[in-house]
Amino acid sequence: MMAQYTRADERFRMVERQIEARGIRDPRVLMALREIPRHHFIPPPYDRGAYDDCPLPIGNGQTISQPYIVALMTELLRPEPGHNVLEIGGGSGYQAAVLGAIVRHVTTVERIPSVADLAKRNLAALHICNVEVIVGDGTLGYPDSAPFDGVLITAATPEVPKPLIGQLAEGGRLVAPVGGREIQELVVLENRNGRVTESFHGGVRFVPLIGEHGWEN
Ligand code: SAH
Repeated sequence: MMAQYTRADERFRMVERQIEARGIRDPRVLMALREIPRHHFIPPPYDRGAYDDCPLPIGNGQTISQPYIVALMTELLRPEPGHNVLEIGGGSGYQAAVLGAIVRHVTTVERIPSVADLAKRNLAALHICNVEVIVGDGTLGYPDSAPFDGVLITAATPEVPKPLIGQLAEGGRLVAPVGGREIQELVVLENRNGRVTESFHGGVRFVPLIGEHGWEN
């Protein structure tokens, strides 16, 4: 008889083989990746590969990030339960849901209205109530809910949009893929005592951030 694997089995195996095996150690991040059902955030037929080691299409030419990249960026943000977090580039809502499993409140901004609707439906179906989806140009940030303990940009930007740096709380961290349209480097900014410090964390590949402080189109 063939063994029956559930999607939860696949997800736990994903965390062990793709996430822990590559050195992600933050217990909050590992817990959130085990908890959030990634397959709910991927439209058929691609949802079948939800626990594979790769990004997948979600429609409108956009993608859901590779699980390891979600884990790495979440760990670099150093999220804590009391935090107020902003995500730019909501996509279908997976990264926002992962953050929402750890922190108090998440605002995610998505440029394409139909993609934002998909995120809203996915989050509502899972009864995730601490993640708010906003349609708009995330390169302007979201002043209504600022300041933020963490800002995560999940689209490729030529430089970190200035308004987002201005919306960081004291001690706040910002994680972003910065570079060209094809390849970028993960950059972490930290705002402490009126100074912003920068560190670099390896190459990544994201779809472009399109907006006033990003790419033109
Ligand atoms: N965070 C997603 C990945 C989304 S892909 C996940 O969890 O899988 C990047 C998303 O950024 C796309 O949906 C794209 O439409 C969006 N985007 C691009 N430019 C944007 C902008 N200026 N403001 C908000 N969203 C933007």
